[in-house]
Amino acid sequence: MNFLENMLTFIFPPTCGICGRENENYVCKSCMEKLKLEKTYMPQIIDYKGIKHCYIFKYEGIIRQKILQYKFKDNPYLYKMFSEFFMKNEKVCRFLKNYDIIISVPMTKKKIAQRGYNQAELIAKQIAINSPNLTYLKNILVKQKETSTQSSLSKKERFNNVKNVYKVQNMQKIKEKNIILFDDIYTTGATCKECTKTIMEAGAKTVDLLTIAKDFEKMK
Ligand SMILES: [Zn+2]
Repeated sequence: MNFLENMLTFIFPPTCGICGRENENYVCKSCMEKLKLEKTYMPQIIDYKGIKHCYIFKYEGIIRQKILQYKFKDNPYLYKMFSEFFMKNEKVCRFLKNYDIIISVPMTKKKIAQRGYNQAELIAKQIAINSPNLTYLKNILVKQKETSTQSSLSKKERFNNVKNVYKVQNMQKIKEKNIILFDDIYTTGATCKECTKTIMEAGAKTVDLLTIAKDFEKMK
């Protein structure tokens, strides 16, 4: 920690992202217990048609509320808590050692201006800061046009909605690299699949997925 960070920690001590109480970590022990009791905390690494997907939570209960608050209620500071869930899990840290570059699912400039931040980018950057082998690269995958909000669409519509909306620039930076793509929630996989396809076509060696949660309801 540098001087400025020390000062900031002194003025704004870390608080638990769930209960809001002051705590040395961004999620306190009793809230962590609550999440485990709720059975939404279930770190997994699955292999689906050759693409590995690592996620921490089932998209339900407290964590679902927190993700919604983070995305839609102007709570950018929650990125610290979310990145801590990844960094404090040994299995996840070991998994992340397989990659060179972390990229987040992009938003259009217009959307970022409306929300004030890209929620996936903040977490992916923080994960890179805490992983010696990972570099966060911005401006590689870009979103070329605005789309309807995925959550308002059916499964089939979601795949059509994101078709050909992403593109890779600065291709040489990802050539033959092992990439981990970060997004907040995995629902039908439409966004993730379109992004991984675009990145692979641009010459990456591998692309796998990392998300906070997986939504099992919407998969049906
Ligand atoms: Zn707490």
